[in-house]
Amino acid sequence: MTHHFNPFTDADGDALRAIVGADNLSTRGADLDLHNRDQSRHPMGNAQAVLWPQTAEQVAAVLRYCNDHRIPVTPWGVGTSLEANPLARYGGVSLSLEKMARILEVHADDFQVTVEPGIGHKDLNAQLARYGLFFPPDPGANATIGGMLANNAAGIRTVKYGASKDNVLKMRVALADGRLISVGSRSIKQSSGYDLLHLLVGSEGTLGVITQATLKLVPVPSLMSAVIASFPSVQAAVEAVVAVRGSGLDPAALEFIDAKQSALLRDHAGVDLEEKPTLLMEFHAVLPAALDYGLEQVRQICEELGASRIKTTTDNAERTKLWAVRHHAYETLVRLHPGYTFLIDDVAVPISQYPALIGYVEEIVAQHGIRAYMKGHAGDGNIHCEFPYKNAEELAVVEKINDLIVTKAIELGGTATGEHGVGTGKAHHMPHEHGEALEVMRGIKATLDPNGILNPGKIFPDVG
Ligand SMILES: Cc1cc2nc3c(=O)[nH]c(=O)nc-3n(C[C@H](O)[C@H](O)[C@H](O)COP(=O)(O)OP(=O)(O)OC[C@H]3O[C@@H](n4cnc5c(N)ncnc54)[C@H](O)[C@@H]3O)c2cc1C
Repeated sequence: MTHHFNPFTDADGDALRAIVGADNLSTRGADLDLHNRDQSRHPMGNAQAVLWPQTAEQVAAVLRYCNDHRIPVTPWGVGTSLEANPLARYGGVSLSLEKMARILEVHADDFQVTVEPGIGHKDLNAQLARYGLFFPPDPGANATIGGMLANNAAGIRTVKYGASKDNVLKMRVALADGRLISVGSRSIKQSSGYDLLHLLVGSEGTLGVITQATLKLVPVPSLMSAVIASFPSVQAAVEAVVAVRGSGLDPAALEFIDAKQSALLRDHAGVDLEEKPTLLMEFHAVLPAALDYGLEQVRQICEELGASRIKTTTDNAERTKLWAVRHHAYETLVRLHPGYTFLIDDVAVPISQYPALIGYVEEIVAQHGIRAYMKGHAGDGNIHCEFPYKNAEELAVVEKINDLIVTKAIELGGTATGEHGVGTGKAHHMPHEHGEALEVMRGIKATLDPNGILNPGKIFPDVG
């Protein structure tokens, strides 16, 4: 379906300034540039104005005005998306939630916190430390809670604690026509009517703007350990992933890094890795004996699968450094490939199919003789293949390979995107992945946003 949008005019600027205040609307080139790029390889967006509302009521009023005047509105967290999710493809307004970043209430006795959407999850966790609580989804970058909920972000701790969708109870949301609604409740158990909370989570700002969220928290674990295990082959490493998951040991992180990338991180980021397929793991426990017992079990599993080296540590500084290096692995890769851009995929499959998926990736990459790096949240069956390219010809090859990998993942019972969302980059896979259900999604979009003003051009392959 194609919608007609109006260009953003001076009169629109005046009307919207009256809502958010003169200092909270900008059409300056520097502000537009900043909000027209995310962290992806995709073309820049076309936002014509950036707005910084400060209250839910302002967000609702902006949406009402833009809906009446057919001006696209694309919500903006902090722009760390990897599929152009927050880029205003059809012009209009980039709606930044940066100035709505307060913690509204800590319900420490209920292990919950209510926040505005613009707060970074790291900033939130720093403030929650004094309560001995934290919000576990961790995508690495200091993404905002609004951006994480809208993309249903996950990360290294999802294997134990779930993705963003599993850690939210209630939200306040502004709809395209300016209505403000509450979805969900603060009760852990909820069985009341349609689950609009989880319809809006993962909708990438195409159905509404999150103005408040109540999140589930968990106690900071008292004991943590990290394990690094190197394997003779990729298959041995991924079989160990399935075995560790099957052992009931409940890892808090279970990450895979291929041999080439392990060597790069050893040589350029100073972590003690071998040039071998590697698993990085973390375990949490309340009693030292439980931690020791778990580590011994993991050691046995890895040894049985031929691990050449298994290193365990309970030293906090060492463990923190390991995860910092893992979180910055993509930036390290980019730094070491000047002149290249990266296509990153994000497929995920049921854990039993992980070895088949990774075997297929290895085979297809070898067949085409291209360069590729692999790392992933293996415990969730999620892999990111990172393909460097430097011109249109190379891009065409890696796009073809990426399409084959996505097709395979869907065949194996998985998905085109485990955590980065669809944006524009994955939209062409949606008909294959969802079939008739995509038509139902279109119906929901048409009901909640009949004029298509909310983040147009995302998720659906042909909607403007
Ligand atoms: C190096 C690197 C590593 C990464 N690793 C991971 C990872 O491990 N796991 C993972 O899940 N992701 C990962 N990401 C992707 C990214 O960090 C996440 O998708 C994150 O959730 C984006 O949050 P943001 O605040 O930057 O949102 P943005 O990128 O600004 O926006 C994301 C989407 O949310 C919408 N949006 C933003 N705020 C709101 C709101 N209040 N209401 C409604 N819609 C809104 C936007 O329109 C957009 O569609 C990584 C990114 C980078 C650069």
